[in-house]
Amino acid sequence: MSTRVKILLVDDVPANLHTLSQALMSQYELSVTTSGAEALALAEKNRPDLILLDVMMPGMNGLETLRRLRQTDWGREIAVILVTADDRTETQVFGLDQGADDFVAKPVVVPVVQARVRNLLERQRLRRELVRLATTDELTGALNRRRFFELGEAERSRVKRYQQPCGLLMLDIDYFKTVNDQYGHATGDNVLKAFVETIQGLLRQSDVLGRLGGEEFGVLLPQTEPQGTLELAERLRGVVETMRVTTEDASTLSVTTSLGATQLNTTDRSFDEALQRADTALYAAKDGGRNRVHSEHLS
Ligand code: GH3
Ligand code: MG
Ligand code: MG
Repeated sequence: MSTRVKILLVDDVPANLHTLSQALMSQYELSVTTSGAEALALAEKNRPDLILLDVMMPGMNGLETLRRLRQTDWGREIAVILVTADDRTETQVFGLDQGADDFVAKPVVVPVVQARVRNLLERQRLRRELVRLATTDELTGALNRRRFFELGEAERSRVKRYQQPCGLLMLDIDYFKTVNDQYGHATGDNVLKAFVETIQGLLRQSDVLGRLGGEEFGVLLPQTEPQGTLELAERLRGVVETMRVTTEDASTLSVTTSLGATQLNTTDRSFDEALQRADTALYAAKDGGRNRVHSEHLS
């Protein structure tokens, strides 16, 4: 699979597409189209990193195409350069208001287009890296605590507004301190990584796994009824039990996890309130002997 940056070229005049293609084809993976409507369909399908978008086109013009693109979930992150012979102030301001990242003037000058594309892609790469650093846990790749809380709050609002169910689990590895003490901190780190990988393997795309701290994790299960939450919790418990991690002296070790299960409720005033329920359940699971699931107000 190609990992090259993907660019979509949009212009109603095929000769212009040809010029842009020649300028960019050696460096990027290109797709082309002559209409705004087709551009939206292609962008949804291919998810390009950047779009070079002609402003004046028959049918849906570039500004309208951009406006619609920015209204979609998937189109907000795509970098857009408007290509236009129309250098009037109002066109530029309107374009920027609709979310354009940059402009190039027509007729295009090849080195200028290449430089603007390069710069914008670099800015995009840096922004993506910042977002990744700000939202994920470096060691395990799970979401960090802050991002998990943000998504938890968003789920709570959804539960309240649409009365849709959402499960919530809290997991804590049992006797993890012993792992560090017996095998060293590096092996402890490997256990945390393997733990996250193992759990991700059982989750759906829409489920959310976050590291709340140390060896404690949270899982959000959107659109999941209490029964499903409990079933998944039990499956996670079982799969962690069978996980094996290689130690520095090439032996293997295993761990277990305790789980607290609950549902987000329409009456929860904050996500924290639900999380405290899961924490209470987790504590009961620890108290009951560990390597088990306990639930709290599950219906
Ligand atoms: P319990 O069954 O009650 O949960 O016991 P526990 O030993 O798992 O819990 P405790 O809270 O006593 O110890 C957690 C340990 O996790 C202590 C801490 O050093 C270790 N820890 C926290 N973060 C990391 C990490 O990023 N890497 C490693 N290797 N250890 C960590
Ligand atoms: Mg623990
Ligand atoms: Mg702990």
